[in-house]
Amino acid sequence: MFSTMQDGHLSIARILQQGSEPHGVSAEVVTWTGDGARRTSYAAVGRRAAQLAHALRGLGVTGDQRVGTFMWNNSEHLEAYFAVPSMGAVLHTLNIRLFPDQLVYVANHAEDEVVLVDSTLLPLFQKLLPELATVRHVIVVGADGAALEAPAGVEVHGYEELLAEQPDEFDWPELDERSAAAMCYTSGTTANPKGVVYSHRSVYLHSMQVCMTDGMALSQADRSLAVVPMFHAMSWGLPYAAFMVGASLIMPDRFLRPEPLVRMIAAERPTMAAAVPTIWQGVLQHLATNAEDVSSLREVVVGGAACPPSLMKAFEENYGISVLHAWGMTETSPLGSVARAPVGVSGEQRWTYRASQGRLPTGVQGRLVGEGDVVLPWDGASVGELQVRGPWVAKAYYGEDDPEKFHEGWLRTGDVGYITPDGFVQLTDRAKDVIKSGGEWISSVDLENKVMGHPAVAEAMVIGVPDEKWSERPLVAVVLRDGQQVAAAELREFLADSVAKWQLPEYWTFIPEAPKTSVGKFDKKRLRQQHAEGRLNITHVQ
Ligand code: ADP
Repeated sequence: MFSTMQDGHLSIARILQQGSEPHGVSAEVVTWTGDGARRTSYAAVGRRAAQLAHALRGLGVTGDQRVGTFMWNNSEHLEAYFAVPSMGAVLHTLNIRLFPDQLVYVANHAEDEVVLVDSTLLPLFQKLLPELATVRHVIVVGADGAALEAPAGVEVHGYEELLAEQPDEFDWPELDERSAAAMCYTSGTTANPKGVVYSHRSVYLHSMQVCMTDGMALSQADRSLAVVPMFHAMSWGLPYAAFMVGASLIMPDRFLRPEPLVRMIAAERPTMAAAVPTIWQGVLQHLATNAEDVSSLREVVVGGAACPPSLMKAFEENYGISVLHAWGMTETSPLGSVARAPVGVSGEQRWTYRASQGRLPTGVQGRLVGEGDVVLPWDGASVGELQVRGPWVAKAYYGEDDPEKFHEGWLRTGDVGYITPDGFVQLTDRAKDVIKSGGEWISSVDLENKVMGHPAVAEAMVIGVPDEKWSERPLVAVVLRDGQQVAAAELREFLADSVAKWQLPEYWTFIPEAPKTSVGKFDKKRLRQQHAEGRLNITHVQ
């Protein structure tokens, strides 16, 4: 028997309506301009999303054509986030920091027909445009487009000119909730980037999870600062979640260095913020020498890479800001697990829970799989690969078979760790980064976190390097804090209390800056390359 309940399709248009009508006046989008801010209400975003949809219809976007964005986090990007999926087309957020050949690959692979480009990114985009085989229209945001040289067959428009005169209401179509809403490519560290296509249903359900108290706890009382780019796993779902509950959004545009970020926090008083650990490391360093008021923040969400416990403690102890560690992937929309300590736990044990990757929510089911596809128990000791499934987890890549990644209905995350009996995931490494030394495994992340616990260290990256006797040994690359000095031997000594003797690294190098990926994570591939090419100055200590 079927239920007697209604089952209207879940849609992004409905999220837009909720944000722009009930919350239309009280919630605002703030876009940072470097020395101030542009402001607009959610009601205005709703009107301009309707205008954009009319304009895109006029350019021939009548079905599920892909509309790319080559943009920073700003209110116009938000308008595209709502207009494109709500009208039945597919939003494709292009990662502006990918290598040019990867960008060309993803835009051609997705068959983008229209691309919205921030005027500040035109020099970068100009180089790609001749290679973009399917693009017919480019819409320039923040300028009239005259600055762009377009190849034959490509029309260039100014965003404001295109929107002017368009009706500010749109009769959003009823869409099948399983239809494609938005797509995002993984950053493709080893092979070509892979496309993940989110549905209206997956976005809607994921947004609810972001807002749940044990998710990111977003509510209408929040001012949320989305530092994580809108081209990195949909800014972790913040834009849609914020519209769902009427939380205001603060967008940094291109001002992502610690100094302007901190100034923006002081001026705009966000209550929550989200970014990868390297951004928060930078903010912390900046705050150490520049007194700014960051007291408005109740919680900052840190994810995308393991969050060093030293970072969490520094924010909490020095600034009273709680750091919420979260794990996820482009393939999981991206919110997976969130590390909130269970009730009744106190002291050092709380930190152990909070520093883990946390509990998976009801919507993301997980299992641990060991060698020979054996499903392992959640006993806090058995180590295997984390596999997940659920309504906002990808079941395939766009236009590509990958039986290795999608296995018996589960997504193989490539992340290795254990799960405690009370459901806390503790990842020890990415499978490809684990260091295999003399038949045993060393966690590169664990060593990094411990080295970053030293007060003179700003950042630490650990990779496995070939070793004749042990097959691989850890190499630690250290970035020192400004004005600090410390010898490799002293750092090794510092680790001796908490690291097993056979795991203590003997290879050390000091680097001016850690190589980072397009989304700001440690780029171990580049460090390995630098090592292979003999470009690192290595100290050997024993
Ligand atoms: P990319 O693979 O290009 O970095 P994603 O942003 O989708 O793209 O990365 C997902 C991966 O990032 C995860 O599989 C995991 O290895 C890592 N990751 C994300 N969050 C965390 C976290 N909190 N702790 C450890 N690793 C994390």
